[in-house]
Amino acid sequence: MERKLLLEHIGVEGIHTHDVYRKNGGYSAVEKALKTMSPDDVVEEVKKSGLRGRGGAGFPTGMKWSFIAKPEGVPRHFLCNADESEPGTFKDRYLMEKIPHLLIEGMILSSYALGCNQSYIYIRGEYMYVLQILEKAIAEAYANGWLGKNIKGSGFDLDLAVSTGAGAYICGEETALIESLEGKRGNPRIKPPFPAVKGLWDRPTVVNNVETIAAVVPIVNEGGDAYAQIGIGRSTGTKLISASGNVNKPGVYEITMGITVEEFIYSDKYLGGMKNGKKLKACVPGGSSVPILPHYLVCKTAAGEDRLMSYESLADGGFATGSMLGSGGFIVYDEDQCIVRNTWNFSRFYHHESCGQCSPCREGTGWMEKVLHRLEYGHGKMEDIDLLWDIQRKIEGNTICPLGDAAAWPVAAAIRHFREEFEWHVKEPKLCMTKNYGLVTEKIFETVKG
Ligand code: SF4
Repeated sequence: MERKLLLEHIGVEGIHTHDVYRKNGGYSAVEKALKTMSPDDVVEEVKKSGLRGRGGAGFPTGMKWSFIAKPEGVPRHFLCNADESEPGTFKDRYLMEKIPHLLIEGMILSSYALGCNQSYIYIRGEYMYVLQILEKAIAEAYANGWLGKNIKGSGFDLDLAVSTGAGAYICGEETALIESLEGKRGNPRIKPPFPAVKGLWDRPTVVNNVETIAAVVPIVNEGGDAYAQIGIGRSTGTKLISASGNVNKPGVYEITMGITVEEFIYSDKYLGGMKNGKKLKACVPGGSSVPILPHYLVCKTAAGEDRLMSYESLADGGFATGSMLGSGGFIVYDEDQCIVRNTWNFSRFYHHESCGQCSPCREGTGWMEKVLHRLEYGHGKMEDIDLLWDIQRKIEGNTICPLGDAAAWPVAAAIRHFREEFEWHVKEPKLCMTKNYGLVTEKIFETVKG
């Protein structure tokens, strides 16, 4: 059954304001929780819901919450990760811009559940105008008694503040975010200890993504069991997808987990099919760090099953023939797009964003970017393809934080599925200059058919 849990009221004029949000049922989950539920009850509902982190990793939220240490007399912190910077991902921005009180309501519920009285939203610096929207909404929430001391007579206190990043993608990694919030350079920490034990100012801390926190609102309103009924298998509830690329209707969509990828791309309800009637060449379903899928694995798995918009189905086949739901940054490529150029573009991004703490990431991302650049500009050699494969293998799994993997996976998948296109860049360097990718793509479609 199709449901809208987060964006149901998105079209209502003035929904970004407290009064309109309240008139449309806003803050009823906070009222319910503070009046009728203990903090542990809220944690229990989130566990029952099966909610998984919407930032990319998909870790069960209730389980993450249950890890928080509770040493006597030590304050705990709840942090919202709004440092959305993954290429292709822009759904948190949309949610914060259009319906900021939904995030604030989720912050109150989550902070209550975890026993935190000082919480922060860490937003990427480039979202300056969203910061202003959020700050206005927080001021409204204080003015209406949803934040501050003794919220609605419940005895629960919560102060909420927004802090901005300074343009580093790596600050979306939770320990780097914590370092940055402490006023230091955003370098990821070695884990363990995990933030649940030693986080912000060495205190127990939980960090969740914007969408994950917003999803706590319908879970409390409707109950964890009801939420778990929506979706498919262990992919419960709804998911925000930010879709971009060569489709007719790019944008942010709230989908019920389990719809088919084919429906998502081709139906008028969602992306409305390929732009200008072009052929689908490839798709990156979960943000720039997840493996790219060639056209024949986008709508079907290798076993010929319908590919679904779910954690499990998108990952079906592992990295050999599958990908990941990731952050929900769904990028669609038509037959005119160059996979080598795209891979170089992603590599350039990860090289730029590497914090430089570990050599495989610091050196490897720069090396991959350099090799991809020469391939793309017609100066590559056949050995470069194996060299790239070798570099990415030496990065994956050998770094402090997941940025190393995020840099390696797109390169590995591009070579795995589009090796011929890399070879064409060496054999026909002029193609790179004339941008005649269509010809390359035709070759690829022929190879698949053959
Ligand atoms: Fe920094 Fe990269 Fe190492 Fe992460 S993997 S800690 S970004 S050098």
